[in-house]
Amino acid sequence: MSRIVAKFGGTSVADLDRIRAVAARIKREHDSGHQIAVVVSAMAGVTNDLVDLTRAAHSMHDAREYDVVVSTGEQVTAGLLAICLQEKGVPARSWLGWQVPIRTSDAHARARIEDIEIEEMERRFDDGQVCVLAGFQGIGPDNRITTLGRGGSDTTAVALAAALRADRCDIYTDVDGVYTSDPRIVTRARKLDKVTYEEMLEMASLGAKVLQTRSVELAMNHGVPVQVLSSFDDAVGSELPGTMVVDEEDIVEHEIVSGVTYSRDEAKITLVRVADRPGVAAAIFGPLADANVNVDMIVQNVSEDGSSTDMTFTVTRGDLDRAIEILNDRKDELGYTDLVPDANVVKVSVVGVGMRSHAGVAQRMFSSLAEHGINIQVISTSEIKISVLIAEEFTELALRALHTAYGLDAA
Ligand code: ASP
Ligand code: MG
Repeated sequence: MSRIVAKFGGTSVADLDRIRAVAARIKREHDSGHQIAVVVSAMAGVTNDLVDLTRAAHSMHDAREYDVVVSTGEQVTAGLLAICLQEKGVPARSWLGWQVPIRTSDAHARARIEDIEIEEMERRFDDGQVCVLAGFQGIGPDNRITTLGRGGSDTTAVALAAALRADRCDIYTDVDGVYTSDPRIVTRARKLDKVTYEEMLEMASLGAKVLQTRSVELAMNHGVPVQVLSSFDDAVGSELPGTMVVDEEDIVEHEIVSGVTYSRDEAKITLVRVADRPGVAAAIFGPLADANVNVDMIVQNVSEDGSSTDMTFTVTRGDLDRAIEILNDRKDELGYTDLVPDANVVKVSVVGVGMRSHAGVAQRMFSSLAEHGINIQVISTSEIKISVLIAEEFTELALRALHTAYGLDAA
């Protein structure tokens, strides 16, 4: 007997037929004698509609009331799934965040889970009950409803699995696992049987949208084995059909590179001829940070004359206009001659823990891109990833070329 937390995303509970299919799957796991807690998202599109309603009501809406509104989508699916389970003869009960309770910080709309009381849920397991939880929500220090940020049901599921010391957290979604690259672009992409937490974290923050980044962090910190699998196939989680996200020690054979990812949500800014003196970087990036503009890749060129240099960096596309405005306001102070924005860029990254122990990984990336005539504009690296910024029109070509170069193509 295992204790399993199973999470179903919006497309997996998009309508009553889908919810009935989820119930059938949970019944199979329950019939095999497993203890099960199910975490559900809102039906596909519902949270977006609720967010739009709060915006329409008032553009500067109160975050506490935003949470009251957007948390309701999950209440509907939790109740409907409990009904569908009962209808199949499975004893089931729904739970909202405050009923568990799932206690969070008071950061409304992006709260962090601080504590989950599991005693009552464990008692229900002993009685053979399935617990169906509304994901994405909790209760703050002032007893008001909180939400965990978009995509937060993944975090609910992993946090619950950690609290319950579950054997596994199955994340059912619309893909059947984590792939070496985006299969819509790289037709020879392969599903990975296993991937490490660290690789998954990099992939999640580099554009692969399978799991919310926070949830991967949480799984890594608590050692929760997470499986990503499809809710559209027949298999159930206990048959291990998906991709397991695990500790590095749990993987025997490492590829050098496990994945090639991309993010189109990038924009580049070059400040031409900024003064080359101490304090300039702080003067540029300080005001951007104060305005919550996240700067990602940075290159500062060597100055030819020892007095001025070009500074190039990236921000998300959504932040581009704000960043330009902030820098324009400080043009005199920063003393640059030109500001050149470019939204026609994409960040392509190769990720793999095997990089730590292999030389020449970056070189292979650079020469492969060069062979295909792709110019690299900015480079950034960490211990287990190399990212390059290139012109957007080369996205597909770069992904396929790198996938082949690192030997990831399916046979
Ligand atoms: N329904 C919420 C959202 O769309 C939470 C989730 O689905 O994970 O962000
Ligand atoms: Mg999601």
